[in-house]
Amino acid sequence: MISERMKNLHPYVPGEQPKDRVYIKLNANENPYPPSPVVTEAVCKAAEKYAEKMALYPDPDSNELKAAIAQMLNKCGGVLARAELTGGKENGSGAEVTPSEGDKLPFTVTPDMIYCGNGSDEVLSFVFYGFFDSDRELVVPEHTYSFYPVYCGFYGIPMDKVPLNSDWTLNKEKMLKDANEKNSSIIFANPNAPTSIGLTKDEVREMIKAAPKDRVFVVDEAYVDFGGESCISLLAEFKNLVIVRTFSKSLCGAGMRLGYVVSSPELVNHITTVKNSLNHFPVDFMAQQAGIAACSDVGYYAECAKSVAFERDEFIDFLRERGWFVLDSQTNFIFCKKDGVPGEETYRKIKEEGILVRHFNTPGIEEFLRITIGTHEQMTELKRVMENI
Ligand SMILES: *Cc1c(COP(=O)(O)O)cnc(C)c1O
Repeated sequence: MISERMKNLHPYVPGEQPKDRVYIKLNANENPYPPSPVVTEAVCKAAEKYAEKMALYPDPDSNELKAAIAQMLNKCGGVLARAELTGGKENGSGAEVTPSEGDKLPFTVTPDMIYCGNGSDEVLSFVFYGFFDSDRELVVPEHTYSFYPVYCGFYGIPMDKVPLNSDWTLNKEKMLKDANEKNSSIIFANPNAPTSIGLTKDEVREMIKAAPKDRVFVVDEAYVDFGGESCISLLAEFKNLVIVRTFSKSLCGAGMRLGYVVSSPELVNHITTVKNSLNHFPVDFMAQQAGIAACSDVGYYAECAKSVAFERDEFIDFLRERGWFVLDSQTNFIFCKKDGVPGEETYRKIKEEGILVRHFNTPGIEEFLRITIGTHEQMTELKRVMENI
């Protein structure tokens, strides 16, 4: 009964969300903090005062949200963990936010440079559809976000998986060589997942310079707010750059399903064409209200990102002192292994103690655990558990 197309589907397997027991969830790179109080207020107000709006279709292009996202990026420069705060409450809420010196943007991000969708997974799906062809291999790192191969299967896009260097960094030279040979696009997450290591903006600039000019170059910045280097400023130099970002990690909003693209207005228009050919209203009214409110309280999220980055660095030290091999991380998770300690078994032992972390059965990374950084209390509990296994 199924179509030929169905046979190429290899669905993504998300981190488990068990119902049988209350776990400390450190397996899906969600933010351990709730959204800003401003978001809760905006959502309640929308439900109470503007309930009739839920009977109407939402703004198909999320114009108010696009403007709010552009303003947020201009305030923080694209990396929350380094943004500078003045005033505001102890949790950062209400603070004035400015970019750190190194993150200042050389131009103002405008709403026509933003495309909004139902989570960055949907945004990515439209990017794959709109820019990658089935007549040439898309260049991806061998270990990267596991949704990319899923979409390649879905859209019939062949893939060239380039192995990582022995230090787990991207093999930029090989990726560029392959992309030029095939005149094809490149996509990767920066910082990369699940390896947690980022390229600098200068490294990405050199890559884009050396990559095919008439093909889109995609950088997925899902984790950049936790301390990587954003490539938004490179949009001044490259017309073929597409940056994908999300509310799910640094904006404490995985449940809101909001993701976005920052790119040239021309490429944003192409993605909008894909959207209007598939789902005209991807972002619902309530999510738009929540997203607009979140963008208005940048200080709160910057403070959350700083806390996560602080806990991450503490945890990396803790593990390294105990003989674990831990990759450097600019994200809200770490990727670690220990000789003689099988990843799957450790995952299971930690789970028995009430904490969920992520283990991948993917060849080449089976020894590793990917652990999301939680609150100070959660990390204290995890350290206790790991000390005893
Ligand atoms: C989590 C993640 C996403 C997906 O985010 P959603 O906005 O929740 O769909 C995209 N890319 C990478 C690399 C991620 O880790």
